Amino acid sequence: MQDTPRPTKDRPDRLAEAWGELVAAARRTVAEGLVVGTSGNVSCRIKDLILVTPTGVPYDRLGPGDLTAVGLDGVQIIGSLRPTSELPMHLAVYRDTSATAVVHTHAPYATAVSTLVTELPPVHYMTGALGGPVRVAPYALYGTEELAAHMLDALRDRTGCLLRNHGTMAYGDSLDQALDRTAQLEWLCRVWLIASSLPGHTPSLLSPGQLDEARGKLGGYGQPGRPG
Ligand SMILES: [Zn+2]
Repeated sequence: MQDTPRPTKDRPDRLAEAWGELVAAARRTVAEGLVVGTSGNVSCRIKDLILVTPTGVPYDRLGPGDLTAVGLDGVQIIGSLRPTSELPMHLAVYRDTSATAVVHTHAPYATAVSTLVTELPPVHYMTGALGGPVRVAPYALYGTEELAAHMLDALRDRTGCLLRNHGTMAYGDSLDQALDRTAQLEWLCRVWLIASSLPGHTPSLLSPGQLDEARGKLGGYGQPGRPG
């Protein structure tokens, strides 16, 4: 336990830099309306260290001295603040995937959809950016291994999922990617809610073939010359 970031052999300031990026990403979740107060959490992986937002501290109060990190086993290695209570879900993603960043939120549209369906109906091809139709993990109490297990099932072949009566989980190769996927997921939920709320109308859905086609093209999404 120590107050200042522990230097790594290869790049002494890497942890401090990563912590700064993590705090900035956490603040973005609030600024973009994905999180209210401290109801979400963000983590990133640097080798075998998981840097994670602490529980109960508003993101605008987090400073360089608050670096909080655990090992893949969840044992705290750096910091005196207690890691997020959702740590089991973050650790499960890192153990099971090649993720280097994870974002969890209680985003309003996504949370609303999580109470209505077991899978988000594919109303838009950006569903492909998350690997396919987004599943809803069955409900379990927050912070439990049971919820982490449900979440892992829902994340199979996907980079994001919903948690029933709870919120979102998304991961990526960077904090920006995990955050963008979270925002994309929230947008998809919003579009479906709008389309499905018109009395007497049912949204048209994309077929598995259409989703596969979009997913193939989305492989190069965001690169020059490949408009979305
Ligand atoms: Zn939560």
